[in-house]
Amino acid sequence: MTNWNEFNFNTRAVRAGQMRSEEGEHSEAIFPTSSYVFKNAAEAAERFTAKELTGNIYSRFTNPTVRYFEERLAALEDGESCLATASGMAAILCTCLGLLKAGDHIVASRSLFGSTVTLFNNILAKFAIKTSFVDLDNLSDWQEAIQPNTKLLFLETPSNPLMAIGDIQAVADLAHKNDCLLVVDNCFCTPALQQPLTLGADLVIHSATKFLDGQGRCIGGAVVGPSKLINGDILGILRSAGPTMSPFNAWVFLKGLETLELRMQRHCDNAEYLANWLNEHEAVKHVYYPGLTSHPQHKVAIKQQKRFGGLLSFEVADQTTAWNVIDSTEMISITGNLGDAKTTITHPATTTHGRITPEQRQTAGIKDGLIRISVGLEDVKDIQTDLARGLS
Ligand SMILES: *Cc1c(COP(=O)(O)O)cnc(C)c1O
Repeated sequence: MTNWNEFNFNTRAVRAGQMRSEEGEHSEAIFPTSSYVFKNAAEAAERFTAKELTGNIYSRFTNPTVRYFEERLAALEDGESCLATASGMAAILCTCLGLLKAGDHIVASRSLFGSTVTLFNNILAKFAIKTSFVDLDNLSDWQEAIQPNTKLLFLETPSNPLMAIGDIQAVADLAHKNDCLLVVDNCFCTPALQQPLTLGADLVIHSATKFLDGQGRCIGGAVVGPSKLINGDILGILRSAGPTMSPFNAWVFLKGLETLELRMQRHCDNAEYLANWLNEHEAVKHVYYPGLTSHPQHKVAIKQQKRFGGLLSFEVADQTTAWNVIDSTEMISITGNLGDAKTTITHPATTTHGRITPEQRQTAGIKDGLIRISVGLEDVKDIQTDLARGLS
């Protein structure tokens, strides 16, 4: 096996994880097979009864194409092992079910992806795993929420949709002082911009659906971290519960990773340009983008991110104005997805955050005039023209 630590990021992105078959194929092969054959009865017996997986048995557990993707993503995150899952949410579920039991406690940042909040509050709570929510950027808040039964700290940075930044290193130190693990959802930055494991996080979660695919085609997810955790209790959940990634999707994500760093550079170029333009626009009350010096955690973003990412939010006068900006676009897609080559626009207060109460929205800082864009790879001047229409 190649030691990918000796290679730089873009080389790993293009080459890590691939194993050529006897056919000598140049591009990664897709293995659409549900099971695998054994040389004889003894080999079958040995594979089935071994404590750990020693070879392929069934594609709910392992599949060569899925393994190529896992090894490539592990190399990009500087992690020992990776487990691919059917979706980003399945990665979070497998991680929690693998590492927690009834009576355990999670401390999580308040500004999380909506389904993650539902998973913690409504589903894990049914199994007596409770979650306390804290302000992402308030370290003493984190400290105070930790209880003797706290096992996991969980955060997303930058957060959705207000682009708040959490200090990964500081929260990791806090976690380890209290015998907890820190899990970071690295969906917005991807390893091209931020590598949480190198900052002290224990596990990294991905929704591969977003920037790893990068072209809005497939649903998938992954968790990256030490082999002891990934190939132990977390794999145990996947193996028995079955939210497995399909080899077809793994192949799409593998190909996505090859261009990840190139794409992220352009997402950042375009987002930085638009953030600066919107920041000067008279119809815009506020721009939320970690790259602006006015962003309250701009310095933390510089410390832990290579660049500032492809997402930004901005606030206009009220809901009517926000809807007018959205409805005046002709090219930009009105959709909740993000991390696509195509620019997308959403009104969080009436969509992603539309089912929480106005008071909860108030506490979360989601104003009625807030608009979120996931800046795509189109020519930035065309994105600007499309947004300018409704702003003037
Ligand atoms: C989309 C998303 C998820 C969930 O991923 P799915 O692939 O949709 O299950 C988790 N975290 C963040 C930050 C996301 O944007």
